[in-house]
Amino acid sequence: MAKCKGCGKEIEWIKTPAGKAMPVDIEVITVVTAKGEVVKGHIPHWATCPAAQQFKKK
Ligand SMILES: [Zn+2]
Repeated sequence: MAKCKGCGKEIEWIKTPAGKAMPVDIEVITVVTAKGEVVKGHIPHWATCPAAQQFKKK
């Protein structure tokens, strides 16, 4: 299991359709899209990470 270098929380790495790796929180959440579709997914870790500013400095 990977851990965030910024805050130490356990994260998963997911590959985007563009082939880039994206860190996400482990928890799976259920959301409804604007089209009314119910989908399960992860929250991007940079959305919840208290150290997220480190990711934006690139
Ligand atoms: Zn973090």
